[in-house]
Amino acid sequence: TTLTSLHDVQIFNLIDKERQRQEHGIELIASENFTSEQVMRAAGSVLTNKYAEGLPAKRYYGGCEVVDEIEQLAIDRLKELFGATWANVQPHSGAQANAAVMLAVLNPGDKILGFDLSHGGHLTHGSPVNFSGKLYQPSFYGVEPETGLIDWNKVEAKAQAEKPKLIICGASAYSRDWDYARLRQIADSVGALLLADISHPAGLIAKGLLNDPIQHCHIVTSTTHKTLRGPRGGVIMMGKDFENPFGHKTPKGELKPMSALLDGGVFPGTQGGPLEHIIAAKAVAFHEALSDDYLAYVQQVKANASVMAKAFLDKGYQIISGGTDNHLMLIDLRSKGLTGKLAENTLIKADITINKNMVPFDDKSPFVTSGMRVGTAAITTRGMKENDMLQVVDFIDEVLMNHDNDTKLAAVRGAVNSFMTKFPLY
Ligand code: PLP
Repeated sequence: TTLTSLHDVQIFNLIDKERQRQEHGIELIASENFTSEQVMRAAGSVLTNKYAEGLPAKRYYGGCEVVDEIEQLAIDRLKELFGATWANVQPHSGAQANAAVMLAVLNPGDKILGFDLSHGGHLTHGSPVNFSGKLYQPSFYGVEPETGLIDWNKVEAKAQAEKPKLIICGASAYSRDWDYARLRQIADSVGALLLADISHPAGLIAKGLLNDPIQHCHIVTSTTHKTLRGPRGGVIMMGKDFENPFGHKTPKGELKPMSALLDGGVFPGTQGGPLEHIIAAKAVAFHEALSDDYLAYVQQVKANASVMAKAFLDKGYQIISGGTDNHLMLIDLRSKGLTGKLAENTLIKADITINKNMVPFDDKSPFVTSGMRVGTAAITTRGMKENDMLQVVDFIDEVLMNHDNDTKLAAVRGAVNSFMTKFPLY
């Protein structure tokens, strides 16, 4: 057998099937997107063969001259994109990026303060089922029941009461912007570090469509595969390097700047060899994100989300906080007598993919939920504009209002599939 021909018919047939699924359906999962072909080409390249523990020009393996150049380009492009002075592009995922940061800046048992998972936060921000809730002592802030918004005064009161060493802002299902300047004041008032996890809105932040965390937060983490439209992965950045305020030492007893601690938090702290094929794909995506085309893309993502939110409201759906500033919205389905689980399972029958999601103060379990989260990053990559949002919301409403009518659902599915032929994928 040769290495160049495809023999694994079973897997490649399945990949083809998945490609068709992606092509025919309406993808509204807020954390998903479609990368460019050149991003996928880099991700599927010979770089997957290379070990490169360490950092560019400081490796534990030979033969790293080429990957050094690639990784350095990825770092430089990312720094340019966000106005950072330091970056690490090696985290395999967003969760890995957060694990590396916490390992670098905290000791086991230290207190952390994050945004409540059931209000839209992420597992890695202190959930008891995650390393962040098992290794550290978490407490949480949330949204107000009346407004669906975070009250910064309450975050301050919580920080004063808990005195955490790390405050985490950022979310998976919060449709409003963050007051990073205010959060930094709060962090400073209790001597905490401030981490912004911008995994979801990273692309909108990079292009100036949302508040800038880099100038206020000590550390910023992100995934690269959501609005940023790169390969699956994570990154860590700083606006500027600073002395480690808690006096943490390296295993050799040295006091180091935060950049060195964070690099060490990634490798050898939580990872082994970096994925240089994915780092190359990140570099490609960052280059794309530096372009004016990408600016137009994220502007359209935001415009589409705001039109979509209005279309849902016009049909009597309830949106947490009443709308959106970013690429996503969280819809409370209780006013329609539906659950998130039913919505997800019914919409998939019409080739529309969303995810069920807890709403703040949800009375249902995480497996059922009262809400659904939808986002416009992926459908905007397909080429959809404001008018198409009205059609998408019509499809969703038709499905949800006819959830027990299989004939109707099949008809909507046909309409969805023919609608999507207007937006070729690759
Ligand atoms: N942080 C936030 C805010 C997220 O939304 C996510 C992804 O859902 C992550 C971290 C984790 O990223 P990953 O799935 O790449 O580990």
